[in-house]
Amino acid sequence: MSLAGVLQLLQRLEVLAIIAASIAVILILALRRKEKSKKDSGTSKEELDSIKVISGLEEAVEEGKPAPPEKDVRELSDEELAKLEARVIESLIIKGALRPLPIPASKEGGHYPELTGVSERDARRLIRGLIEKGLVVEAEREFSTVACPICGSCNQVAFISCRNCGSFRIEETRYYRHTCGYIGPESSFKGELGPICPRCGGAENIETYHKKYRCPDCGAEFEEPNLAFKCGSCGSLYDEQTMEIKPFKRIVSSREMLTEYEKVSSAVNRQIELLRQQGYEVEKPASLVGESGVIHKFDAAAKKGDEMIAIVSSFGEPLTQVLVRLGVARSDLKLSKIILVTGDRPTTTERDFARSLKIDVVETTEAPRSSPSSRKP
Ligand SMILES: [Zn+2]
Ligand SMILES: [Zn+2]
Ligand SMILES: [Zn+2]
Repeated sequence: MSLAGVLQLLQRLEVLAIIAASIAVILILALRRKEKSKKDSGTSKEELDSIKVISGLEEAVEEGKPAPPEKDVRELSDEELAKLEARVIESLIIKGALRPLPIPASKEGGHYPELTGVSERDARRLIRGLIEKGLVVEAEREFSTVACPICGSCNQVAFISCRNCGSFRIEETRYYRHTCGYIGPESSFKGELGPICPRCGGAENIETYHKKYRCPDCGAEFEEPNLAFKCGSCGSLYDEQTMEIKPFKRIVSSREMLTEYEKVSSAVNRQIELLRQQGYEVEKPASLVGESGVIHKFDAAAKKGDEMIAIVSSFGEPLTQVLVRLGVARSDLKLSKIILVTGDRPTTTERDFARSLKIDVVETTEAPRSSPSSRKP
């Protein structure tokens, strides 16, 4: 078996490993969910009572119209994502960071204004990509929201409930204080035209002294009620103990890396322009399917007749590793050559290795060449 054959086989194995891992993750998630619902159904007498109350409440809530199905924003294509990435990088250059904002009554709970209209999944994909390229890092938390432990949605309505029996029917009692020193429940301050002090008859300077909560079902009184939530997406009920916390972090750019990125991307554009001038048809970005069935992604692909050239940029990843990966892709795709744009200066060994793989290494630090073909050995 040739070296290219071995590499192809290795790549196939890698793909299989990824698929196996994904299946394992899905199974684990399904099992966890099952366990969770099992836990939920294994209940004590006390819990049963509160569930009765809960189901009564659910009926009441669901008598209205059912929640509309969540609209999922369409997933972006690779090309759209690349365009969006360029836009986000532009605003990172100006502002230096992406700050999440809370979005009331939303499933997501919060979002980055620069990514408005983009699904949470795509936003995560984009940010992960930027982190992998070393252009940004996740900084400290801006805020955290309450999320459903079953479906992860932040769209919920909060209830107060009894700390003792879980009933939702608890009532709040306010205690007022008058400047004369009298303290009593709100009901004792009832006057014709608003609150009046029952001791001295004064109507001014009456202030809230404290609040108490009372449960009509079990008679318990407490200072602070329990908080319970009903998920607006899946309908589950959860409380402070079972809720999930969803953190929203600031994404901070690395100025050095952004400058590097600008250099590399303008060098990539220069290469594309040169190829266009030579009559190549350029697709940007490009996803090409190899003989192995593996999809290889490039910044661009240029085609003229039988000739196919891929243009790719690299950040942060060690050059040798990039070259190995590209060597595999080149033989899998039967490319004429690959142009690799990098800010790193290759060593002599790396340069020789690149040449043997028919990969042209273009450094951003060197002056632009008149034509990429002039770099052929
Ligand atoms: Zn109670
Ligand atoms: Zn008074
Ligand atoms: Zn939910």
